Amino acid sequence: MEIKKKDIRALTKEQLRAFFVKEGDKAFRGNQVYEWLWQKAAYSFDDMTNISKETRQMLEDNFVINHIRVDTMQRSNDGTIKNAVRLHDGLIVESVLIPTSTRTTACVSSQVGCSLDCKFCATSRLKRMRNLNPDEIYDQVVAIDNESRLYHNRPLSNIVFMGMGEPLMNYNNVIKAIDKITSKEGLGMSPKRITVSTSGVPKMIKKMADDEVKFNLAVSLHSAVDEVRTSIMPFNETFPLQDLRESLEYWYTKTQRKISYEYVVWKGINDTQNDIDAFVKFCKYVPCKVNIIEYNPIDDGEFQQASNEALENYIRTLEQNRIVVNVRRSRGKDIDAACGQLANKT
Ligand code: SAH
Repeated sequence: MEIKKKDIRALTKEQLRAFFVKEGDKAFRGNQVYEWLWQKAAYSFDDMTNISKETRQMLEDNFVINHIRVDTMQRSNDGTIKNAVRLHDGLIVESVLIPTSTRTTACVSSQVGCSLDCKFCATSRLKRMRNLNPDEIYDQVVAIDNESRLYHNRPLSNIVFMGMGEPLMNYNNVIKAIDKITSKEGLGMSPKRITVSTSGVPKMIKKMADDEVKFNLAVSLHSAVDEVRTSIMPFNETFPLQDLRESLEYWYTKTQRKISYEYVVWKGINDTQNDIDAFVKFCKYVPCKVNIIEYNPIDDGEFQQASNEALENYIRTLEQNRIVVNVRRSRGKDIDAACGQLANKT
């Protein structure tokens, strides 16, 4: 009978050190292996060149390294790169490298598929199969960092959890991944350069505030009118705007950090003066900034980008109310890598 080997990256450094002591080796060997696993992101035990052959074999007999593999990499004519990432059990997620003149941002996935049902998002059509493990999130970042160095001659500078899945429904693993990404023993990135984006799970937003996380929070709002939001993001029925608002007020009181609202304006859905006024009012509850995202069509035209006039009306009203607003142009549309387009099509 084949014994199921353990995922070695599920062990903490302390557990790894204890393992080596139990095997009659030095605890320090655990530190060396830990460094290979995280900082050097080794694919196999054979890569661990300062570890003896016997020890490597012993590790091989006991453990596996469930490293992701970039199955296909597509490059857009605007420099955006999309990776289709194969997990150890054959499932696939996508991550995206987004370059600008000054930075490279990695957009990573937190779940295989998504359990939410946002009507405008391609990922919502995939069933949620499972949560990603911390190492699977970490590996996506490493892969993009390598590609950034190779194709753009600079390291990765920012990370957004805006790929597939709802990060706050895989909270523990997302936190563990971010711990590794920001740790000196991992990638040593500043948490200020990391943004977790959520559709708005109030209980988890409060938990994040209690946990005193140091990264940024973005909320995919899209409407500040309950009926409208529920019609395009049905889970809003369970987590209505009032609950979301309270959780965001709690977040700000605890962290003193501004929230970003992601917002798409659609024709006939949220483009009236009433929608704008409700949004401006919502923006005043907690210090925030707004990112208006261009709509990336995913289907037969049920959703359409609003007119320029409606968009300008939003921007003007927000600015008149001294709310910082950025308009995000889509990147990587030609390879289905833009917001809401991740659906394992390749
Ligand atoms: N579940 C999290 C993480 C996904 S982020 C969240 O909702 O925040 C993906 C972002 O792209 C979200 O802001 C989402 O609302 C937005 N989005 C989804 N589909 C889109 C589309 N077709 N065009 C533009 N933005 C879209």
